[in-house]
Amino acid sequence: MKALVITNKINNKFNPSLLNLFTVIKKIAGNSNYEAKTDVLVIGYELNNIVADIAKYQVVNKVLVIDNPALDHILAENIAHQIAKIVGNYTHVLINADSFGKNLLPRIAGILELGQISEIVSVVSPNIFKKFTYAGNILSEIESFEDIKLLTVRSNNFEQDEILANQSCEIVHLEYTNPVSSKIKFISRNVEDKLVNLDSAKIVVTGGISLESKENFDNIIRQLANKLNAAVGASRAAVEAGFAPNDCQVGQTGTTVAPDVYFAIGISGAVQHIAGMKDSKTVIAINTDSTAPIFEYADYGLIGDLFDIVPKLIQKI
Ligand SMILES: Cc1cc2nc3c(=O)[nH]c(=O)nc-3n(C[C@H](O)[C@H](O)[C@H](O)COP(=O)(O)OP(=O)(O)OC[C@H]3O[C@@H](n4cnc5c(N)ncnc54)[C@H](O)[C@@H]3O)c2cc1C
Repeated sequence: MKALVITNKINNKFNPSLLNLFTVIKKIAGNSNYEAKTDVLVIGYELNNIVADIAKYQVVNKVLVIDNPALDHILAENIAHQIAKIVGNYTHVLINADSFGKNLLPRIAGILELGQISEIVSVVSPNIFKKFTYAGNILSEIESFEDIKLLTVRSNNFEQDEILANQSCEIVHLEYTNPVSSKIKFISRNVEDKLVNLDSAKIVVTGGISLESKENFDNIIRQLANKLNAAVGASRAAVEAGFAPNDCQVGQTGTTVAPDVYFAIGISGAVQHIAGMKDSKTVIAINTDSTAPIFEYADYGLIGDLFDIVPKLIQKI
């Protein structure tokens, strides 16, 4: 096995999913005679500090760095060809299944004409991986016969192991070979400043269309989330109504989360929503309708009006 993990920078640190990806490397190696070591490719701008942090982990063999002002906002279209050349040297290439990974790896798969296995949740062997299909209703085992296994990973499904961070390893700086004829350029980025990232949060507070307005959503869902140091989630209906931005959407066409605690507040529990949260460890649902499907997934259910219950909850915390 010769593994490569691709990662980026988030809030001046390395993407926290990197530690979960190290667990995946150990699992792939654990089922074989492979050594649990990986190279890490970091892409972005002003990476010196985070590269030094990554290089300390014992599971890391070598850190490859592409550090360039043009990569302050990474455009997958402009970097995929360069990474595709690097990827050719490896047997396993892993990336977190967030918007960065889901944008980049399929392009690399296309360039190299390789099959990709998307959003793996479990490792069976170095060639066989498990992933959900049909909106999370079927857990499939997929075997890859490719020489290079390209894997996007639902990192939340893999616990972060204790890994010693007391070494120093080789760091290789690579030139950014920006494609001359790039037709894509960065214009602007509109992301709300979040205290807690949705896809790595330990607690998620999610609100649905029943909040009735953005104002209510902010006063109820965001307030509860702030009290609990939790990430804010929303159903697609709530996002479409403009109560919360798109990157808060949980579900089949949004983010997949697996927090310790998931609050589903005024959420019916449509299959497409469940697909994004059913791996949560404890689910607390608040809904006026006792027959709402969300209660089938809830560990704790409160049948009642969210406008009564949540303010009381906020007061108690
Ligand atoms: C291809 C496709 C992809 C989709 N992807 C997603 C996705 O990624 N994520 C997603 O969320 N949806 C997705 N959807 C939409 C999904 O089918 C549902 O329409 C959506 O999840 C419903 O959102 P909701 O629970 O907020 O609204 P509703 O289904 O309308 O449910 C509102 C709930 O609030 C309860 N309620 C009402 N008033 C109160 C109150 N005062 N107090 C407490 N409870 C109250 C009601 O009893 C009801 O159960 C997708 C749909 C399609 C077709």
